Amino acid sequence: MCRVTAPTSRPRQAADACPGVGRPFSAADGSIVRLRPASRPVRVQALAELLELAAGQADPAIQLTSRGALQLRGLPDPLPPGHRDAIRATGLVPSPTHELVRNLVASPLSGLDGRGHADVRPVTDLLDAALCADVELTRLGGRFLFALDDGRGDVICDSFDLGLLTTGAGRCVVLAGGPNRAWELPLAAAVPRMIALAHEFVQRIAGDESTWHVDELTEPLGPEPATEINVPSRPERPLGAVGEHAVVAVPLGLLRPEHIVALARVTDRVRVTPWRSLVIEDAAAALPELEAAGLVTHGGSPWTRLHACTGLPGCARSALDTRSLARRLAPVLPAGRLPVHVSGCERRCGTPSTAYVDVLAPTSLDDALATITLAQPDTTPRRVVPSIRDGRDHSRGEGKRETAWT
Ligand code: SF4
Repeated sequence: MCRVTAPTSRPRQAADACPGVGRPFSAADGSIVRLRPASRPVRVQALAELLELAAGQADPAIQLTSRGALQLRGLPDPLPPGHRDAIRATGLVPSPTHELVRNLVASPLSGLDGRGHADVRPVTDLLDAALCADVELTRLGGRFLFALDDGRGDVICDSFDLGLLTTGAGRCVVLAGGPNRAWELPLAAAVPRMIALAHEFVQRIAGDESTWHVDELTEPLGPEPATEINVPSRPERPLGAVGEHAVVAVPLGLLRPEHIVALARVTDRVRVTPWRSLVIEDAAAALPELEAAGLVTHGGSPWTRLHACTGLPGCARSALDTRSLARRLAPVLPAGRLPVHVSGCERRCGTPSTAYVDVLAPTSLDDALATITLAQPDTTPRRVVPSIRDGRDHSRGEGKRETAWT
């Protein structure tokens, strides 16, 4: 059984600055906009329409984030009203008032592969609807995360603010901030309980926008008594065929035009995972076609281990074009167990939540290869905890840092 490690609470003064259509983030290469599917299916046509907005860019792509969100960058700054309208027309912003708080991750294969104790898709939909119907909960902030796990342990092993873990037929535990604040209850009662806990959180922070997470409260959230539970061990992340369904990873988390063209040939909707991959129902037979388009379908691909921050030209802090270097690195990536992350500066945006090989601002491909080779003989992780350099918490979630990976 794995234990969720509670993220460290960090002092900060600022409200979160997570981007949305109504609140784009201004970066070196233009506006960044993030769309939150909230673990619901995304129409492939909506992806194509989004990418149209980036069509004039040198390397147009939709970024997939670690919360299963979609992100466009390099858009005009300020964002023209026509762009806002076009993005909203995709249907990916069902509640303009709540777009920043629809941060829901759920077991992506729930209800599809026979695993887990229950299909959490209906619960996720109910929670999303309840959240969007609740005006007070617009005060949650953009970093507050709901995680709904069907019992397999794939999303509950990572950080969350309010969680749900199904434990048997019609049963679950609701969790606040981690495994040490848990309440067992019928699955049918989970959404009202999570909404009540979310209300308690916004009332407790009393407008203090510098408190982003449940574990930052001075007193525990929720009623007594709460119990402590063990959560399941983190399972292998699926890739390739899962029964008749397909799971494909997206290199560097960048969904490119050729990927979307291939997806459109095999499906009309996909589900975005929190691991830069897509679940495509009834598409196992189409895996060769998807692989030919550049999507990753098997664990032998270097792209299952190789990641990079945004780097140049999108991030002015970068010493290099990290993605370009990663693309040159992929064909020659030394075998190894650990993820490899290329960062353009010491902020190390978007590093994996597990141990990884830290390739920091390499001066060349050979320099990067030397770092990887040196780090791997004993597979000792060069674990890096991002430091606070500007008073904001860079340790979790999808924030103001420049990143292709968070
Ligand atoms: S680590 Fe972050 S801040 Fe540094 S270059 Fe990469 S994206 Fe920019």
